[in-house]
Amino acid sequence: MFWEKYSYSQIKSKVFESLSKNTNYRTENIIGIPGTFLDTDIFYDDAPFLKDAPFLSTLIANPNHIGVHTFGDEHEDFFAGTQELEKDLIKICAEEIFSAEPNTYDGYVASGGTEANIEALWIYRNYYKKEYSASVNEIAVVYSADTHYSIPKGIDLLNLKSIELDVHPVSREIVIKDLEQKIERALAKGIKYFIINMNMSTTMFGSVDDIDKVTSFLNLVHINYKLHVDGAYGGFIYPFTNRQNSYNFKNKDISSFSIDGHKMLQAPYGTGIFLARKDLLQYVCTNEAGYVKGKDFTLCGSRSGANAVCVWMILRIHGSEGWNVKMRQLVDLTSSICEKLNQWNIHYFRHPDLNIVTIDANYMSRDLADKYHLVPDNHNEKPNWYKIVVMPHVKQGIIDNFMTELENEQHKRFK
Ligand SMILES: *Cc1c(COP(=O)(O)O)cnc(C)c1O
Repeated sequence: MFWEKYSYSQIKSKVFESLSKNTNYRTENIIGIPGTFLDTDIFYDDAPFLKDAPFLSTLIANPNHIGVHTFGDEHEDFFAGTQELEKDLIKICAEEIFSAEPNTYDGYVASGGTEANIEALWIYRNYYKKEYSASVNEIAVVYSADTHYSIPKGIDLLNLKSIELDVHPVSREIVIKDLEQKIERALAKGIKYFIINMNMSTTMFGSVDDIDKVTSFLNLVHINYKLHVDGAYGGFIYPFTNRQNSYNFKNKDISSFSIDGHKMLQAPYGTGIFLARKDLLQYVCTNEAGYVKGKDFTLCGSRSGANAVCVWMILRIHGSEGWNVKMRQLVDLTSSICEKLNQWNIHYFRHPDLNIVTIDANYMSRDLADKYHLVPDNHNEKPNWYKIVVMPHVKQGIIDNFMTELENEQHKRFK
């Protein structure tokens, strides 16, 4: 895994060069599209700092990255300059982070993990409809009980059947026996096609589904499935902190990934990334998108080019080596919390390659959880878990303060 680090001034000149290749609303003859630069009463374009601010300049120029730019020769060419940066971003994610071969994937910057997950379900539903004349009653989505709610949301929207798998209460791993039984039952009930969601880190626990165990069962029984990886949370950390794993495009069982720029990468909201193997996006081509040159293959339609540029800038300012160091530091800090919890015999869940610690709510008062804004697994009377997420703003000092208070509580153990 390698992508080059650029200096800030290199990044700046590349972004301004890309902007100069876009059609400019201020200087060119554009009278045919319902787009323009940002409102000048609020976003005045003669602010002197803008010449040193590539992201803000892109935001103000307001390029639309509608459509997908990794395939076909036909594209909206108004914003070809910044779309090239999006292509470089998708290339880094697919080829360097997830080991794809060149020209074997497509992708785009979606509004978030939710859109990227729904895009995947939509593709596979249409794939089964088109290639197997399947009816929606014959297609089920299989996912663990710890899965993000965007998957049930997509199932609802797309009218699919749902198969939720039990997880082990301590390891948070999918119970394979349950998978076997539920697939068998589904087959007996006439379900023929399966869309499998595997979590490359869940939101609440940071647990990573054991994809090898799941796919070896699925392959053994020869069911018809397509597999999507939800890396919305884990996508920019797990591949760096765990180099030997099956979550990449070398694994033939995987067809697509979601990865959020607006979580670990510290990009602004609106930067979910969707990656899929080639020849899959065609199943969600909206032919009715007549006015879009190159058609539309996304759920969202118009989308901000500035968001794509910004994710590209973040990846480039760190380079792969810098990003690796940054993620390892978070994981190390997380481990230091767990060492203390072990000493005090506090029950918690933590995956060793992730920066989430989910503490058994029996070991902590609600007041302490509230004081440090720990997030409960539910907002009812009695949560089962409270989680700590060691994000880049979480420094040793605040952790020390929290840990001191937690230790004091252990002497009078809340139940
Ligand atoms: C956050 C998250 C999502 C959804 O992401 P949004 O960016 O909020 O749409 C999906 N899956 C997982 C595992 C997540 O952590």
